[in-house]
Amino acid sequence: MQRRLLDLQDLDLQLDQIGHRRKSLPELAALADLAREKGVVDRELVTAETEVGDLQREQRKADADVEQVKLRRVRDQQRLDAGRVSSPKELEGLQHEIASLDRRIADLEDSELEVMERLETAEATLAGLRARADSFAGRQTELESGRDAVTKELDEQHSSLAERRTAIAAELPGELVASYQKLRSRLDGIGAAELSGKRCMGCRMELNAADLGRIRAADANAVLRCEECGRILVRTPSTTSTIG
Ligand SMILES: [Zn+2]
Repeated sequence: MQRRLLDLQDLDLQLDQIGHRRKSLPELAALADLAREKGVVDRELVTAETEVGDLQREQRKADADVEQVKLRRVRDQQRLDAGRVSSPKELEGLQHEIASLDRRIADLEDSELEVMERLETAEATLAGLRARADSFAGRQTELESGRDAVTKELDEQHSSLAERRTAIAAELPGELVASYQKLRSRLDGIGAAELSGKRCMGCRMELNAADLGRIRAADANAVLRCEECGRILVRTPSTTSTIG
């Protein structure tokens, strides 16, 4: 009858193992890593998007600057070509202005080009970050479905074991189950152990002759405890064949 307590102990250890596996799934660790990585990339995305936006504005301004000076250059050239400027001093001034506008256009075009190059680099960085962010989504879905499949399987195993456990616990005296549970919570999940030969399988110690004598004399239904570890000792045929 007490041997059912060992079945209960065995089921409890299996239930513990399932609970442990459920909490330590590799998918959970991978998802946590992914979330951290995603957080970093999300922040980098914000920075890269801001930079691209700023450079686009800068490029539009550089384009407008070039256009404005070019327009002025065209107007000056038209004045020059129309031949309406007759005073040599005014003519010299106009030619001087055209030359300085040409230099200005060259400078502005240089900075326009430089902005374009910076924009291209920033856009490439942004595209790379977006591709990484997209790959996270796929990876996350994959990990989540893996996690869900294993969790479902473990939950099914857990509930079928828990059902068996309830049935076995119902067969045993309530007091015995209660004291077993108290010991189990205190002693690394093991509240009851087989007395295998002269050895307590809970702490692996051999009982001394006096204790064995006491056990031999005890009633079959008496609840015995290991003197070493305090666990409930359950006698099995191997006990009786060794100690009589
Ligand atoms: Zn023991």
